[in-house]
Amino acid sequence: MFRQMEDAGLTDIHIGLDAATGMRAIVAIHSTARGPAIGGCRFIHYANEDEALTDVIRLARGMSYKAALADLPHGGGKAVLMRPDRPFDRTALMQAFGRFVDTLGGRYITAVDSGSEVSDMDVIARETRWVSCTSAGGDPSPYTAIGVFSGIQAFVRVGLGRPSLDGMRVALQGLGHVGMALAQKFHDAGAHLVVSDLDQSRLDAAAQQFNARIVAPQEIYSVPCDLFCPCGLGAILNEKTIPQLRCKIVAGCANNQLASDDDGERLRERGIFYAPDYIINSGGLIQVAMKHAGASEHAILDKIQGVGSTLERLLEDAIRLDLPIEKLADRLAEQRLHARQTSRHHAA
Ligand code: NAD
Repeated sequence: MFRQMEDAGLTDIHIGLDAATGMRAIVAIHSTARGPAIGGCRFIHYANEDEALTDVIRLARGMSYKAALADLPHGGGKAVLMRPDRPFDRTALMQAFGRFVDTLGGRYITAVDSGSEVSDMDVIARETRWVSCTSAGGDPSPYTAIGVFSGIQAFVRVGLGRPSLDGMRVALQGLGHVGMALAQKFHDAGAHLVVSDLDQSRLDAAAQQFNARIVAPQEIYSVPCDLFCPCGLGAILNEKTIPQLRCKIVAGCANNQLASDDDGERLRERGIFYAPDYIINSGGLIQVAMKHAGASEHAILDKIQGVGSTLERLLEDAIRLDLPIEKLADRLAEQRLHARQTSRHHAA
């Protein structure tokens, strides 16, 4: 375990057990240099503790990078709550998890992730104040869409030298909470939409409201377009799909879009500008974190516009230095984490 922690750069891991409810949870903290660690709680089935541990360790660093590049006063952490094999009382389990989070005294703030819901966060909030994404905060998806759109505008300006999306062709994969909000923005900006989804009612809505052309899920990659916008699944940029792409930019909200590190390089070799997912989709985290801290709507929206400025600077540097943008992004995140660690050290 220590070797895994060292490789992932983690500082601490906390393990919680409540035999009465079956609550078995692990919280991994990557960094608190910039402030309390924030990150979602996965509530899924794991075959065993090792699998749960590996997952939580793998995910914590990404949250530090995401918070640092969004310039939030937070570090990164993640929780896994192992879904019991036997029938269980969800409310009691979440309450027990809330008590566990509370014992960390604010070192970690939990949030929604795969398998957990806003209603779970409401239950957790009965036990601890170190929880975000409660129903009081509202759905973060529209804020994610605002951040993604500002990032896309920056890429269009810097990458394509165009002042706006007017007349651009956009291939949009996934018309869910974020994808549908983005479709509206693309339509309002005068872009032409081609869409795919597994849900026919969403496709019909996009065709009707935004005059979108519908293609089958496997066809979206090869649509000739200016922008491919992945808003469905992860790992969709891989050795099979990248050769099919006929776009100039890939930028969308989906998490973990690159199937492997090599795929960033594959995109670069093809001359496609890629917006690192954890930066462009950070609007939701910004809203959740700032809402938790009591910030005003105006301050939240102002901060989310910074997603575009961050991506603009990174893309300019990537073009000038001829380096993969995701590597520059990781480097910038590391610098920000390190700068805060150093300034704390000097202050102490
Ligand atoms: P969602 O579940 O509301 O929507 C996902 C959509 O993708 C659904 O309409 C689904 O039918 C569609 N889809 C699934 N498989 C598909 C396929 N093979 N081809 C085409 N469409 C497919 O999810 P969401 O909240 O809109 O989030 C979308 C992505 O963005 C996820 O990867 C999520 O992790 C990430 N993300 C979301 C937020 C947020 O605020 N909601 C924030 C950051 C990242």
